[in-house]
Amino acid sequence: MGYLGLAENREAFGRPGPALYDGVGRRIDHLRLSVMSACDLHCRYCRPVGLRSATVRTRSMTHAMCVELVSWLTEDHGLSKVRITGGEPLLAAGLVDLVAAIKAGHPELTLVLTTNASRLAFLAEPLRDAGIERVNVSLDTLRADRFASLTGGDLSEVLGGIEAARRVGFEEIKVNVVALKGINEDEFADLLAWGCRQGFEVRFLEAMPIGPAADFNRRHFLSGAQMRRIVGQCFELTPLPQEFGLTARRYAVSGRGVSGVCGFITPVSEPFCGQCRRIRVTEHGRLFPCLLDSRSFDLMPAWRDGHLDTAVAERVLRLAVEDKAPRGTVQATPMVALGG
Ligand code: SAM
Repeated sequence: MGYLGLAENREAFGRPGPALYDGVGRRIDHLRLSVMSACDLHCRYCRPVGLRSATVRTRSMTHAMCVELVSWLTEDHGLSKVRITGGEPLLAAGLVDLVAAIKAGHPELTLVLTTNASRLAFLAEPLRDAGIERVNVSLDTLRADRFASLTGGDLSEVLGGIEAARRVGFEEIKVNVVALKGINEDEFADLLAWGCRQGFEVRFLEAMPIGPAADFNRRHFLSGAQMRRIVGQCFELTPLPQEFGLTARRYAVSGRGVSGVCGFITPVSEPFCGQCRRIRVTEHGRLFPCLLDSRSFDLMPAWRDGHLDTAVAERVLRLAVEDKAPRGTVQATPMVALGG
């Protein structure tokens, strides 16, 4: 199926609103918006120590531009969900106002957040009030010394942030654990038991060979099958029905006196490109149609006199989306600049 224009979409699918399809017919309705390429952690699988940002001198999108972009994608292209990410999104000044402005413009949008939680203790409540419904937090270990050597950060801040998120009552909290052979596989059961006790869905992620962390991630790679074997030593895993477009393969788990749900995100060994419904936009206005494809498209020229020229934006979007890789292969840009 080629790219469908708005009129053709309505005719073909009988839907009242517009929709965006890529060159192989995947409906694109989710945006990952990186609002801050800087991060306060140096996770070795994401942003190795010493990595300088190549885009430091590049102009950034203002929050007003982000709101305008989201409005246009929602109204003209049927966007249904925005994931606010980074870098570390909680470092972005005015983040709460940005979320509130997006929500005020489009209350129907689902707004979710991915964060390392180091500043969530201060921001959980205002972000929930502004419109964030669900939160994914990244946590690869429960051991303070291991956390410090893997990320350069302070585990107690992160646990404080997660506790604040639990207290203020987001609809859902998921915990992302990047699975690393020889680094944290001995903690999978502990992380899962901890998550189950708190009512969090713990998801184990394959380390993707992205940017300057690619070699590190290849060396420490654990496949979904390997992760399931490790978790299966302590927990009974029962597969749950697969929801369309969900990145995780989900399982009901029980063991160690607890039960809950866990997920495995396996883009390397069990890619889910056929169900991809995402595009990504970075803080610097670059549109990445695929996480595992280095090509990106510059949206910045679409702003004229402080406003989005939708004809220009449309041309950039079409170029990007029509050519979205059916299956991703290589990404040279560091994950920290992409938003995960
Ligand atoms: N700073 C935020 C955080 O830590 O959640 C948001 C950005 S971070 C890039 C988004 C997610 O990508 C995190 O869950 C992180 O663990 C994950 N991630 C980073 N590098 C990865 C890699 N090479 N492979 C798989 N996941 C990765």
